[in-house]
Amino acid sequence: MEEKKINFESYFKDYPSTDGYFGKYGGCYISEELKAPMQEITDAYFNICKSRRFISELRRIRKEFQGRPTPITHLERLSGQIGNVQIYAKREDLNHTGAHKLNHCMGEALLAKYMGKKKIIAETGAGQHGVALATAAAYFGLECDIYMGSVDIKKQAPNVARMKILGANVIEVTHGLATLKEAVDAAFEAYSKEYKDCIYCIGSVLGPHPFPMMVRDFQSVVGIEAREQFLEMTGELPDHIVACVGGGSNAAGFFSGFLKDETVNIYGIEPLGRGEKLGDHAASLKYGTEGIMHGFNSIMLKDENGDPAPVYSVASGLDYPSSGPEHAFLRDIGRVKYDVINDDETIDAFFRLSRAEGIIPAIESAHAVAYAIKLAEKLGHGSVLVNLSGRGDKDMDYVIENYGIPQK
Ligand SMILES: *Cc1c(COP(=O)(O)O)cnc(C)c1O
Repeated sequence: MEEKKINFESYFKDYPSTDGYFGKYGGCYISEELKAPMQEITDAYFNICKSRRFISELRRIRKEFQGRPTPITHLERLSGQIGNVQIYAKREDLNHTGAHKLNHCMGEALLAKYMGKKKIIAETGAGQHGVALATAAAYFGLECDIYMGSVDIKKQAPNVARMKILGANVIEVTHGLATLKEAVDAAFEAYSKEYKDCIYCIGSVLGPHPFPMMVRDFQSVVGIEAREQFLEMTGELPDHIVACVGGGSNAAGFFSGFLKDETVNIYGIEPLGRGEKLGDHAASLKYGTEGIMHGFNSIMLKDENGDPAPVYSVASGLDYPSSGPEHAFLRDIGRVKYDVINDDETIDAFFRLSRAEGIIPAIESAHAVAYAIKLAEKLGHGSVLVNLSGRGDKDMDYVIENYGIPQK
């Protein structure tokens, strides 16, 4: 636990530090050959993100292409089923392409354009990041190389098709287990060879500095909008806010709007999957220990050799063995409480929200909804604002096949 009192008024100036640290977490642990290209991205970001032209172009794109601002919906029937607590949802599912990921992908691609790059490259696991990035690349007329393990290519056929329709090159990675980890390695290797013409675009608040900061900043639009909208709707701030945490991008952006509001309790929800045994969940902040992976220092789940452990969640967007360094920091200083929700609670919330409100949530987002329901049952009064990070169209086949349709 860090004893230092954090001043949230100057938080975004102070964190991360100029070398990318949130307390002891973060940093930039990469090979010598990648240091110069990473510094180029950092310098470009610091210059460009303050330019009026960049800010107004991003603002226009968000409004005219992405469909921002996304609304807040009062979940009246769901709240009514539980009692006196009022539950609200910030509707990131209504973003173009159906999730919050486009918020940072459009920012990263716009940065690539301002840097004069011709191509963006990334890896993808379940394909959600690949689809969002392929969308951004199409919008800006950039080439797009997405590295993906052959195992994931087989599992995620609809997302592979989407990326190809959008004009991206899906590059199959066949070595090792041929899943996300190998795809990350392949994307980094390609980047170290091609960095003069391209930038690497990460999918969450992860990886070496400046990505955890940059992705948070691009996602902070969610928190800024949500705070204003909630105040306008109710005249007050929410008592509790909840978001799911995989790598942590939707949570980081959403939370950033409320960190300085002492009365707002903040909860980040990790997937407990099938249970507490290593390999059955992906709750790194609850069960992990400090370590370095994929270019940054954070809390991670490790196997007996100290390597990233196998992880599992019903939500493929949440099964990553670490979380962004800022979340590790916010946990240690006690500003955000991290808790867990398992698969069964998630699927229950998936159907409850669908049937009570006519909103089918992504299984990732359903973790946050399940926690909001739990909180509401426990508290008995007040308000809960949950970040609905995405829509569940991508999950319907999987849910029906594995869980069936529940009786009313
Ligand atoms: C990818 C994804 C997540 C998890 O990513 P974070 O970086 O933790 O936000 C959550 N919800 C949806 C809908 C996603 O697609």
